[in-house]
Amino acid sequence: MPNPTTIARIRALEVLNFRGNPTVEVEVLLTGGASGRGVVAAGISAGINEVGQLLDADPERYAGGGALKAVANVNDVIAPAIAGMDACDQCAVDSRMLELDGTPDKSRLGANAILAVSLATARAAAAGRGIPLFRHLGGDGPFRLPVPAFDTLCGGSHAEGGVDLQEYLVMPVGMPTFQEALHAGAAVYRALVELLREKGHNVRLASGPVSPALGSNREAMEILMQAIEKAGYRLGEEVFVGLDAAMSELHSDGKYVLGRDGRTLSAEEMAEMWAEWLDDYPIVSIEDGMSEEDWDGWQLLAECVGDRVQLVGDDFFTTNPARVRRGVELGAANAVLVKPNQIGSLSETLETIRIATDAGWAAMPSSRSGEAEDSTIAHLATLPGVGQIKIGPPCLQTVVKCNELLRIADDLGDDAEYAGRSAFRTWA
Ligand code: PGA
Ligand code: ZN
Repeated sequence: MPNPTTIARIRALEVLNFRGNPTVEVEVLLTGGASGRGVVAAGISAGINEVGQLLDADPERYAGGGALKAVANVNDVIAPAIAGMDACDQCAVDSRMLELDGTPDKSRLGANAILAVSLATARAAAAGRGIPLFRHLGGDGPFRLPVPAFDTLCGGSHAEGGVDLQEYLVMPVGMPTFQEALHAGAAVYRALVELLREKGHNVRLASGPVSPALGSNREAMEILMQAIEKAGYRLGEEVFVGLDAAMSELHSDGKYVLGRDGRTLSAEEMAEMWAEWLDDYPIVSIEDGMSEEDWDGWQLLAECVGDRVQLVGDDFFTTNPARVRRGVELGAANAVLVKPNQIGSLSETLETIRIATDAGWAAMPSSRSGEAEDSTIAHLATLPGVGQIKIGPPCLQTVVKCNELLRIADDLGDDAEYAGRSAFRTWA
């Protein structure tokens, strides 16, 4: 009997992401008739160590952001090389693509080309086995529904005229179920929009994270906390807060520049500032609290507050197994943000998760500012040892991930345990 999960055909297409920019979509068809699709997301505040996305650089199309070269690389180079391989052997398929590419950063064929095939292969394999993706990737589990970290108020490079810090997160760690956590995210978002409108800010519901022009970075945190209470939740018990400071974007000449607060800080002073914020606010997670190449600053921060809060490396680790391994050795953080397109293959993404969870670190799969229809990160968030996901407020493109998690919850049925506090150490 021929193996029904053998790759028969691969089709790539240029489609659009939610920012309206081109990206790569791939469909993998198996000999047994099953198929799966993968679409690649993109970031704005991308880390300098991310792998290379191949863009067309044709100024006549999408301001140079076309994906036709990457699509052609899938159809002409990757497809003939992986046809006939078993889609269930993800590592073999991904390794073959890395070999074909031959560069350390996937820039020849394009990380966007390679990742689209990688994601579609996993989807097709799961479909061929007749099981959902999370079960295909996670075996016997145990699976948990993740704590959603909702990026509800934004600044930095995600907003013009907003505060300096990039994301203020609503984290319903203490809710009893994923569904109630989702509702809390929606209710706090609504309350925040109402509060800001009362104060004369021109913000609207269902338009993604709000980016009001507030007077200071602290004011943004304070208004978010007011919104949590206005929505009727117990702050620091049911609903906590988190941050993606994205300090790589604010790092200049070795200093941290908080323009909105009129402050320029050394790494020592930055760590002190975070310690003060932890004294004042129920923060459970700080992402990129130091810049991506400031290893000393990260170690200092981890020494200073690593036992009080989750310290997540995003631009710092770029989902790169080697960087995470070094981070673990140096004790430079205690959690890793997981974005498949930062590293460009599913196998390496899973390796990063494994290195983190084996070290007792947390892993937080995350959407990007240029998300696509793909919902792989929702499945990654349910894998053993993970238990968290970072998304936007529950509207627009974010519902792709929310709805996939609701389907996973439905599939798990009575076994659908909410990670809640167990996804964090002692700080929630
Ligand atoms: P990005 O932002 O997708 O623009 O990189 C998200 C983040 O920094 O977490
Ligand atoms: Zn980030």
